[in-house]
Amino acid sequence: MKVSTIVAIFIFVFFISANSVFSHEFNIIAHGDAKFPSAEDCRKMGVSALWFYSGLPLKFNENGEPANPKKFVLLFERFNNTDIALIPLLNIFYQKNTGKCQLSRFSDKPHYRCFSRDNSDIVERLRLLVKWLGHFKNFGGLCLDDEPGVQPGGCICENCVKLFRSQYGLKPPADKVYLNTPKGVVPENNPVLLWTKFQNDECIKYYTSLAAVIKKENPGIRVLNIPAAAYFSGKQLSIPNCKPQDFIKSGRRVSLDNCHIRNFQLYVQFYMNEITSSGWKNKIADGLSLCMLNTGLVNFPNLPVYEKFRPVSKPAVISVPAFKRFILQTFSEGVKGIVYFRGRSLTPEHVKAGADVYKKFIVPICAGTPKLHKAAGKVAVLYSTSTRTFADLWVNNPLERYKHLHECDALAYYLFRKGIPFEMLIENELNSLQELKRFPVIFSAGLDYLSADKAMLLEEYVKKGGKLITDRKSRINIGLKVDFDAASWYRAVTDGNQRATDMEFQAGLLEAGLGKYLDNIPTPCRTSCRHANLNHLTDGKNLYLFIVNDDLNAPISTILRFDGKYDVSDILEKKELSNIDHMRVFIKPAELKVIQLHHNNFLQRKNKLCKK
Ligand SMILES: [Zn+2]
Repeated sequence: MKVSTIVAIFIFVFFISANSVFSHEFNIIAHGDAKFPSAEDCRKMGVSALWFYSGLPLKFNENGEPANPKKFVLLFERFNNTDIALIPLLNIFYQKNTGKCQLSRFSDKPHYRCFSRDNSDIVERLRLLVKWLGHFKNFGGLCLDDEPGVQPGGCICENCVKLFRSQYGLKPPADKVYLNTPKGVVPENNPVLLWTKFQNDECIKYYTSLAAVIKKENPGIRVLNIPAAAYFSGKQLSIPNCKPQDFIKSGRRVSLDNCHIRNFQLYVQFYMNEITSSGWKNKIADGLSLCMLNTGLVNFPNLPVYEKFRPVSKPAVISVPAFKRFILQTFSEGVKGIVYFRGRSLTPEHVKAGADVYKKFIVPICAGTPKLHKAAGKVAVLYSTSTRTFADLWVNNPLERYKHLHECDALAYYLFRKGIPFEMLIENELNSLQELKRFPVIFSAGLDYLSADKAMLLEEYVKKGGKLITDRKSRINIGLKVDFDAASWYRAVTDGNQRATDMEFQAGLLEAGLGKYLDNIPTPCRTSCRHANLNHLTDGKNLYLFIVNDDLNAPISTILRFDGKYDVSDILEKKELSNIDHMRVFIKPAELKVIQLHHNNFLQRKNKLCKK
């Protein structure tokens, strides 16, 4: 084995498990550029990996070195004496003038790489780059792209059309098929569904084949991707009433990746995922955008977290308390890590806050708990990929593309605020009745379309006693109960921005319709405090409550009420309390408390129930 490969494997092992296997893990990853952040700042904040935009070099000289290695050398040298893994981001998707770009049905100007074309030109350059980077001891992996994706309505280039015809014997569906298909249950071989599946399959094939090339050249490194998230796909309500052409001009034009809805949480703007042979379902970290535009903070009106920011520098960045809360909330959801973006937005105040949070919370909690993951949901929210697919083309307002998503957001926000553990179910990933039967109640909203095979599955679920509750506007009818108006706030904001108060208003409306279905759902802990974010994690036996104070200015003092008597440990204060059914907690603004409920109490409760 080559020395470079051995070194790379060492870095890789470090990158994936900075802590021992008996402790909980949380990786902190930062974006970096030519100047920021410094190696010393990264050390203080506990950063284990750093990614930077580099581009995939176009030319290599005879020694296999890129014609312009300056940026790589600069970054790798800056972190040479650290154990931080470096990850260049190549932006292959955005390379122009390749003659292999996507053709949108809205524009005759090709843009972004098409996923169905031959990629041999990239393959050769990738091989050379991976080989050359293997000489640097901190080489941890490659991130192939930042928010690549299929354009709304798919790529209609000659190659895609030909390939689709050879696989399915069909032409791509015309615009009017998207717009005029009657709402309701549609056969799973509907041309719009097949066409979208074809486009997504090509996208997955494209990236998995490039990942395979990289892994073959250097098996010790990681291949990553930042899937299309809310910003690039135009999800925010910031371009109301624009025509398809305006939408195309705005540049925010690819379809949202399923991974955005899979692990719903309000605070995240993007994800960093590992590409494996089956796609990019393995999420490495949740992303936090401190700032995205030169003019200041991008408008993320669907994310109440951004209501509270103050410009501390130019460009404006999110406030230090919001930054702290963001890290702790992400940590509390049991994800593998967090990504800070952009590196130069980390002001000295942010670095200090990042270092404090790392020292005061992340290190002691990881050391004091075994490996944790999100506890199973008690209820579910169904996200319909068929509804989303048909909404790719719209008549009046591009917000229609995201209406269903926004309605699912509102349901998720409501459940999150109510402290009820929930899971997102994604229509085209449902396979069996077994997956559905875990939930006594499934909520959905704005179901315009559903594929026939999944409709059958849901019908079976309802027949077996499951409750599928949806809103009045849903156009499908498979014996579901209709009980609330999901679009009540949406009507008011179709030409404006959604604010945190809108989400609260909507949660109140949802409670009026849905509260009755949740009263009997057994949850181990309840609190009446609106600012206490209750997160449920588990090591497989014990339950861990991670409680974040969502308020950035005031402390909270609240009583946690359990569903029975428990032996309880306060992980940070190292305090044990036995046989209690409630406790008062005090949490400073944007800080965190971790309470373990001992598993013996769960067992006793189960046995008692059995005896009855
Ligand atoms: Zn194409």
